[in-house]
Order: sequence, then C-alpha cells, then structure tokens
Amino acid sequence: MTTTGRRPNLDVDLLDTRNCNVRLACECCQSRSELAASACHTPLGVLCVTLCGTCSRAGKRPHWSGPRGADRIGEHCLHLGIDRATMSALLAQQQDLDVPEVWFY
Ligand SMILES: [Zn+2]
Ligand SMILES: [Zn+2]
Repeated sequence: MTTTGRRPNLDVDLLDTRNCNVRLACECCQSRSELAASACHTPLGVLCVTLCGTCSRAGKRPHWSGPRGADRIGEHCLHLGIDRATMSALLAQQQDLDVPEVWFY
C-alpha cells in the first residue's frame, strides 16, 4: 500500500460532530443537562465543545488560550478522521462555515 499521490479527502464536513465525545458537563457553565457536542470555528481551525442546551441556545462558547485551543482542534481532527493539513485545506475551501468565529483569549 502506498500513499504516494493520495489526495486528502476534501468531502469532510468540519462541523460534523457525530464522532465527537460529549463530556460530563457543559464546558461553559458545568451544567449537566441537555449536553451535546457542538462545533466551534476559531481562527486556528474548527474544534468541538460540549455545551448544555442553555449555553448552546445562547451562543456561549468556552474561552481557551491558544495552545489549549490548538490541542482541541487536533482532537476534533481525530474525530473527523483527518489531519491538520487536511483541515487547513478544508478551511481554505469552506470560507463560509455559517457559524460564528470564536477567538482565543
Ligand atoms: Zn452551559
Ligand atoms: Zn470533535
């Protein structure tokens, strides 16, 4: 088996959270009700967060430092089955992700 000439799969939906882990509590407010994984668009890439129904509806997102966010983007790449290079290529292609971009603090 060779990977020579293999092209990255560019049909991946970066906002797909079907394979994402739902954590034990909301990452904004620690609530444990109505938890769901939610995709989050940041300047570094797309990552997933666990949000309760209240925070999700209010559009709240946790605030991370850059390095922490980068780790989370790497995790979400694993959920999607792609690598960081592929995510970058997809981000360049999908200019309009239709989700608000969240900044790191
Ligand atoms: Zn919450
Ligand atoms: Zn994920």
